[in-house]
Amino acid sequence: MNDQATDPTRTAIQSKILHGKRALVIGIANADSIAYGCARIFRQLGADLAVTYLNEKAKPYVEPLARELGASVFVPCDVAQGGQLEAVFEQIRGTWGSLDIALHSIAFAPKEELQGRLVDSSSEAFKVAMDISCHSFIRMARLAEPLMRDGGTLLAMSYHGANKVVPNYNLMGPVKAALESAVRYLAYELGDKHIRVHAVSPGPLKTRAASGLKDFDVLLSEAVDRAPIGELVDIEDVGLTAAYLTTPFARRLTGTTTYVDGGLSIMA
Ligand code: NAD
Repeated sequence: MNDQATDPTRTAIQSKILHGKRALVIGIANADSIAYGCARIFRQLGADLAVTYLNEKAKPYVEPLARELGASVFVPCDVAQGGQLEAVFEQIRGTWGSLDIALHSIAFAPKEELQGRLVDSSSEAFKVAMDISCHSFIRMARLAEPLMRDGGTLLAMSYHGANKVVPNYNLMGPVKAALESAVRYLAYELGDKHIRVHAVSPGPLKTRAASGLKDFDVLLSEAVDRAPIGELVDIEDVGLTAAYLTTPFARRLTGTTTYVDGGLSIMA
């Protein structure tokens, strides 16, 4: 283990490569959230943050984190409530007038159906999962476009179950497949404006959303046993990769799905 003074990751973070950048982060529920790991890294790299919370019930858990992150904007956002995502962008327009980074790190499916077979899924549950977990990213892109006048980066969180069958991922598999496809089409449509669009695909992480999956602990222990790097990823690992995708080091990359999984997805 590197100590603070010699850790090469810390040294890279001191570069403040995102200084002056403005980043919207949607999807912090608590300190375990992937979105929180991303927000922490964006902040450590110098970005100003806009942070959202789902509703009044979620607010007390997110507010201290937003304060610690020095968020300039802190507003509610339930993408299933008409007008709330629009209000977030209105607030950003009023406060900053522009935006460089927008991270979508949210997913939802009704629990009973998430834990059942895809073949038994109802049209209603599928629609809800698709709207919250995929189409809201498209809406986010549409609202971000006019604010990203100098280009920018849109990021969504996917999972390996989009491309391969992961037992118990069930209806979220096709929903994440649609999300990754949307990333490619948005990258195509927004490329001439230098708005780059990426999916980041983390290995399994113990979060609230993940606790809704059946036998999630099995996925976690398999990830340690099978991944070439032999350790679980953490939320800051995801944040570092997300941050890289927003920097000039990735300026000719768009439309990709980047795995942050210790190599798990290369294994047969
Ligand atoms: P999490 O529970 O911390 O985050 C999920 C977030 O989705 C919460 O902040 C929740 O408020 C938000 N959300 C749900 N419905 C919403 C709505 N209607 N409007 C706005 N926000 C809503 O869990 P997480 O694991 O950090 O999940 C973040 C993303 O990462 C999800 O897209 C998830 O599918 C993806 N992901 C998770 C894992 C994992 O193992 N945890 C692996 C790969 C990808």
